[in-house]
Amino acid sequence: MTEPTFDYDLFVIGAGSGGVRASRIAASHGARVAVAEEFRIGGTCVIRGCVPKKLLVYASQFAVDLGHAADYGWTVEGARFDWPTLRNAVARDVDRLNAAYTQTLNVHKVAHFLDRAEITGPHSVRLTSSGQTITAAKILIATGAWPVAAEFPGAEHTISSNEVFHLETLPGRVLIAGAGYIAMEFAGVFNALGSAVTVINRSNAILRSYDFDLRERLLAITQARGITYRFNAPIDRVEKHDDGSLLVHCNDGGAPVPADVVLVATGRRANTAGLGLEHVGITLGARGEIPVDGEGRTSCPSVFAVGDVTDRVQLTPIAIREGHAFADAQFAGKASAVAYDAIPSAVFSQPPLAAVGLTEAEARERHGDIRVFTSDFRPMKNIFNRRIERGYYKLVVDAATDRVLGIHMIGPDAPEILQAAAIAVKAGLTKADFDATVALHPSMAEELVLMR
Ligand SMILES: Cc1cc2nc3c(=O)[nH]c(=O)nc-3n(C[C@H](O)[C@H](O)[C@H](O)COP(=O)(O)OP(=O)(O)OC[C@H]3O[C@@H](n4cnc5c(N)ncnc54)[C@H](O)[C@@H]3O)c2cc1C
Repeated sequence: MTEPTFDYDLFVIGAGSGGVRASRIAASHGARVAVAEEFRIGGTCVIRGCVPKKLLVYASQFAVDLGHAADYGWTVEGARFDWPTLRNAVARDVDRLNAAYTQTLNVHKVAHFLDRAEITGPHSVRLTSSGQTITAAKILIATGAWPVAAEFPGAEHTISSNEVFHLETLPGRVLIAGAGYIAMEFAGVFNALGSAVTVINRSNAILRSYDFDLRERLLAITQARGITYRFNAPIDRVEKHDDGSLLVHCNDGGAPVPADVVLVATGRRANTAGLGLEHVGITLGARGEIPVDGEGRTSCPSVFAVGDVTDRVQLTPIAIREGHAFADAQFAGKASAVAYDAIPSAVFSQPPLAAVGLTEAEARERHGDIRVFTSDFRPMKNIFNRRIERGYYKLVVDAATDRVLGIHMIGPDAPEILQAAAIAVKAGLTKADFDATVALHPSMAEELVLMR
């Protein structure tokens, strides 16, 4: 397997979800592997993405539950929230995971360089700090994605999701630019923790890829919870005043919005800047991604790419699967293509939403004749309190085959419930299979098998 002329069989650029998985699986197949990481081992998900974000979501849900506690007979006196305590606890867990991922590389005898790597040829990389050149039979690019930079005047006064975990204090007023999943998640976190939140978006919709009815429900609930939305409002400029406060001007003719923090969450682009792709003849795709075939091959035979940098589906479990499949194919001769159908996803908004398969609109377009079943219900936990937040589930079914094409849910614990339901969609089960399944009572999930 080893070309004796190379330092390694595989050199991986980026120790995130995809890179770490590819490294350890290739090493377990007997390959000599090295990985370079310019920031922290673990990558976006662990260091400044899914994991710390979810911990903030948990923290903010206490605020909601404390509000309900009195209805259930609890008196909670003197409840106060302290941002530095939470921020530091999250940072400690990130440190723990960083150490665990480093340990994984050590256990699998993967050499790691805490340095930035740039490609210098089909079989060589250069570490930018040390200046060292390393050769490898194969190079895997797993450099992830990066927040799209704001370009309006005053952008330097804004932050991205990279910085949001490190704020000194809990901001009184947060303005969030964008309405994708990261924007909606942080809107929910700051709203529940007590900040005044304004979401500003250049279009007139939130969460474009999700089913229309879920988006409408989330919008209504979050408005009722106090989040202000301003649509069709591209940001024109951000001014910073002497007291540190910010003023955000939009191009919609409306009044400027004061804020203490402006979080720009308008998307993430493949992270390829300065990577040296020109040395191996790789041309980027229309969205700035590295084009690859089903096995992660780029246009250069010895260079491969997985994860967000290929911009197929920017989710951690996909990066992991792509990294694993790459290593199996290249170092164990096991071809195992990643399947991109029926990928479950969630937005950890408040309430959360989750979905798998086709939306109603997509199913109508692709299958024509469909049946749609919905359940609009009041979650039992909300029965005592004054909240009129209702859950909403939708099953999209192919009329010809009875096959469930999509499941869409908004309500408490929707992501937890949907993970199990996604198995049914992946397995191609029918609406009749759902109907034949006995309800688990009392639960919210039982709505899934009670829709008629
Ligand atoms: C705020 C936030 C919340 C998210 N929440 C979720 C979620 O709930 N669920 C989910 O599935 N996904 C979520 N994601 C997306 C998820 O984090 C990514 O899909 C996943 O991390 C992609 O893995 P990757 O291996 O492609 O890249 P990454 O994990 O981004 O790893 C790339 C690594 O490469 C390093 N690197 C880049 N260039 C170089 C270089 N030249 N040399 C050396 N190192 C380099 C980077 O520092 C980074 O560590 C979230 C992302 C963000 C930002």
